[in-house]
Amino acid sequence: MHRKNNIKKISKKGILPSVLLFLVFIGICQGMFLSFVISFAGYVIDSKASNFYDRAKQIGQIIETNTRDMELSDAVLSMKPYLSEQEDIAITDENGQILLQFGHTAPDFNRADQISIMDNYVIYPDVNTEIPTESTLNIPYLELLQRSLDIMTENKSDNWDEWLGRNIIDSPFWTEIPIQADGFRIYYKDRITLAARNALYIMEAIVLDAVLLVIFLIILFINVLSSVLTQRRIVNLYYLDTTTEGKNWLYFIQRSNKILCRLRNAGNTYAVVNLHMDRFQDYCACYGNRDGEELLKKMNAFLQVNIGRQETFARFAAADFGLLLRCQDAQSCEKRIKKLLAELTGIPNDRIISFHAGIYMISPSARHQKSAESVQPRRQLDVNQLYHYANAARESLPEKDTKHIKLFDDEILQEQLWKRKVEDMMEPALLNREFQIYLQPKYNPISQKIVSAEALVRWISPTDGLIPPGRFIPIFEDNGFITRLDDYMIGAVAKLQSEWKIQGKKSVPVSVNVSRANFTKENLADHICQLIDSYGADHTLIELEVTESAFFGDKEMLQKIIRELKSYGFRISMDDFGAGYSSLNSLKDLPVDVLKLDMDFFRGEDTKKRGEIVVKETIRLAKALKMQIVAEGIERKEQVEFLAAEGCDMIQGYYFAKPMPVSDFLERMELN
Ligand code: C2E
Ligand code: MG
Ligand code: MG
Repeated sequence: MHRKNNIKKISKKGILPSVLLFLVFIGICQGMFLSFVISFAGYVIDSKASNFYDRAKQIGQIIETNTRDMELSDAVLSMKPYLSEQEDIAITDENGQILLQFGHTAPDFNRADQISIMDNYVIYPDVNTEIPTESTLNIPYLELLQRSLDIMTENKSDNWDEWLGRNIIDSPFWTEIPIQADGFRIYYKDRITLAARNALYIMEAIVLDAVLLVIFLIILFINVLSSVLTQRRIVNLYYLDTTTEGKNWLYFIQRSNKILCRLRNAGNTYAVVNLHMDRFQDYCACYGNRDGEELLKKMNAFLQVNIGRQETFARFAAADFGLLLRCQDAQSCEKRIKKLLAELTGIPNDRIISFHAGIYMISPSARHQKSAESVQPRRQLDVNQLYHYANAARESLPEKDTKHIKLFDDEILQEQLWKRKVEDMMEPALLNREFQIYLQPKYNPISQKIVSAEALVRWISPTDGLIPPGRFIPIFEDNGFITRLDDYMIGAVAKLQSEWKIQGKKSVPVSVNVSRANFTKENLADHICQLIDSYGADHTLIELEVTESAFFGDKEMLQKIIRELKSYGFRISMDDFGAGYSSLNSLKDLPVDVLKLDMDFFRGEDTKKRGEIVVKETIRLAKALKMQIVAEGIERKEQVEFLAAEGCDMIQGYYFAKPMPVSDFLERMELN
């Protein structure tokens, strides 16, 4: 969940903030440029207008001086020779009615507010001059920019100097002359001009701004593009399975959820599949890790081609792939997987590989079902859990199965629920001492006396009663709790032996199982020794049973641990010899004291004769290697007789006794 949020953060972080930041930056730059251009244009126009006003003030001073000797009208008239052709003076009454003027035009007081109010003087347009009124902004220099643009585009002359000399603005304007004249107002008119030369700077600023804007936009585009590409690369890396170079498990989970929750897939049946290549480890050991990886890549490429758009897949671990397939029903799904498995088997031309698959079916969404109550909403489905159900279905296939495909069913569900229950209960059970030690005697077949015993665990649960080891040992082996249980049992056996010694009871060596999971601990021998010594038990009365399968692990480590244990005086037995994949080599390499023949040797009527030959020869072999022999699972008299005749040292089986509580065992020992 956390990883999913991270990748979402990466996706969002990638573009949005940088684009927004960049747009804000462009906005600020544009604002700064615009205000610069506007103030510059304003400055140019303001200086023109103030020249105009200065002239009006100068004329006003002359008129004011003249009024000392003459009437106001005469003083105004006396100015005429000093005025240029485009200059004009007008006298109005207080209501703006013209009383005297040189030219034929007049200030247009009605439009005064549309022109400009500069600092503390007012400029009025001329009544005869067309002032464009569309500018709602009421800023004349925007007008000016517009005009300069017009002139630039209209300019057909190649003569640059001539063009620069042209006027962009050339309009008559009026302003009031500041003069004391009771009941009268005097206005001065001149043409205000603005040459293209003056506007050129403004134009340059505008062009520069436009160029900068384009550059910014290009940078923005490149920035966004590169962050999109980087983000895509990160996401791809995030979902990469480095071994197959395909997608990883996280991708599978997220993509599966997406597909399953898609509205248009609501009516479809889906299957979560665990596809498992058998003995991939052996393949790697045989052909090398590189070939193993090559094979996984090929499998990935094959699935890539054979998986649809509304389906997905990814490698889970080792050579296990998870698939989400769209199927009509379980039958068609099985058919399709069968075909896939057959084709996958053919991937390495000259090498034999095989596959098994487990399937968990997902029904269409609730609203596509007649009885919707039993259907879990797809949004709530935990694809990872479903994959483990499919995996459990595959693992439940019997070893000798030929179908290679198994659908998850209620029986497997019950197993899964039991597994969870056991995992919830195991810790408190250990604390509450619910695990109890049972002893199964081992008899000498000739004297028919107890010569040893095996300690076997029983779980006496207050809720579930007596639970046999087969129901929980494999679960503990899976989750690692077995090492804790083994410690508990070894301690319990040591305690028993030391109590018997203190109480002066007759005693025989007791063997205890040490699961193969322990053999990854380098200091195992010291650990066991300390545990036993903490109860003060005699080492020679304790035997440690190691199952034969443990002998296929790290052989050197195992040899070292066994030698150490033996040096501390413990006896070592090889349990279940002959079950599964036996290797005579383990007899050669490992200095064990006791060989326990698996009960499978004594099962099956049709192979009885052959079995007897194997047992006979194994006993001979063990004797030659100076090992003691224990036969397990002996239930019948003739088996005992046969084993006694062949020189088997001990018999452990229901014929003599089943595993029993310690008190029952002690009673038997009394009679021994
Ligand atoms: P194992 O160590 O090979 O123990 C022998 C199993 O064979 C015992 O099963 C025993 O009850 C059963 N058995 C003995 N004689 C006969 C017979 O004549 N007929 C039949 N049908 N069965 C017979 P159990 O007690 O159910 O234990 C099963 C396995 O669970 C053990 O096989 C051992 O691998 C494991 N186990 C039991 N207790 C412990 C323990 O404390 N620690 C570890 N690591 N494993 C244990
Ligand atoms: Mg055993
Ligand atoms: Mg055994």
